[in-house]
Amino acid sequence: MRPDLGPRPHLGYAASRVDRAAERRSDADALRALESEGRARAYLISGELVVLRITDGALDPLFPCAAARAFEGAAETAFLGLVDDAPRFAVAIEPAAAAALKTNDAFEVTDLRSIAVRGLVDAEHLPPLAEGKALLNWHARHRFCPNCGAATHLVEAGWRRDCPACKTQHFPRTDPVAIMLPVAGDRCVLGRSHRFQPGMWSCLAGYIEPGEAIEDAVRRETHEEAGIVCGRVAYFASQPWPFPTSLMIGCHAEAISHDIVIDRAELADARWFDREEVAQMILRRHPDGFTAPAPVAIAYHIIRAWVEDGVEFG
Ligand SMILES: [Zn+2]
Repeated sequence: MRPDLGPRPHLGYAASRVDRAAERRSDADALRALESEGRARAYLISGELVVLRITDGALDPLFPCAAARAFEGAAETAFLGLVDDAPRFAVAIEPAAAAALKTNDAFEVTDLRSIAVRGLVDAEHLPPLAEGKALLNWHARHRFCPNCGAATHLVEAGWRRDCPACKTQHFPRTDPVAIMLPVAGDRCVLGRSHRFQPGMWSCLAGYIEPGEAIEDAVRRETHEEAGIVCGRVAYFASQPWPFPTSLMIGCHAEAISHDIVIDRAELADARWFDREEVAQMILRRHPDGFTAPAPVAIAYHIIRAWVEDGVEFG
C-alpha cells in the first residue's frame, strides 16, 4: 500500500522561470538597454553569500541594477535572462564589501543554503540565485587563462571569458554529480557522510569522472563507498546545486549484491533500510530519531519516490 507522506514539497533551485534569452548576450547595445529598463533587477552575490534588502520587514533579493552596481566592491555583472520579460542580472560584490554590509540594518547577508532551507525568499528566486551564484563563482576562479596564463576578460554578458593573448575562449563549467539510491525490492541502502547532522541518512553520491557515463558512475560510486554491486540504473531527475557549480543527477540503482563494505574515508556509515522505516524517516517519526534529508535536496525526492511508487528498471 502506498504510504501517505503528505503533499510533495518543492525541489530547491530547480524549475527555473528564467528565459535565458541567450540570443541577447552578444549584443552590447541591447544589453545596455535591458539594464536601464525600468523593470530590470539584479541579485547581489558574494561567493557563498547573497545580499538581501530589508523592506517593510520582508527580505527582497532584487535590487535596481544601478543600485546594485553602485555598491562599494561591486565587480562583474552577468545577464541571467528574462522573467516575464523583465531583465534579471547578477552582480558580484567583493567579500570584504559583503562582510561590511552584515552590520548594516538595511540588509540581511546570508548564504544561499540558509536562504533555501529557511525559505527566506520566494521559491521562484532560488533558480536564478543558483544560476547567478554558480556563474559568478566560475568568473572568480577563471581570471587567468588556463592555456597560457594571461588575464582573461568577461564577454557575452558573462557567459564566456576570452584570452586576449592566445585567443582561447573559456565557457562556464558545470560539474556533474551522480546521486543514487541503491534498492532491492522493499529495501534500500542509505549512507551517512561524516559532515551530516546526527541521525540523518541520505543517498550515496560522487562526481562523475571524465569519460564516464552516468550509469557507470552510479555503479562505481556505490561499489566504492558501500561495496554494493549494482545492475540496472534508472534516471530520476536532476537539480542545479550551486555549491559551487554542481549538477546533481538523481538515479535509482538495482542492487544485486547484499553485503555492505564501507569506505570509512568517504562514509561514516551505510546500511540497509526497509521501506516502512524510510517512510518514518521522511515523516520524522522514526523511533531512533533517524531522518531523511530536507526537501530542498534532490536526495529527499529520490528516496521519497521509491517509498511512494517503487522503481521500474527499463
Ligand atoms: Zn590564453
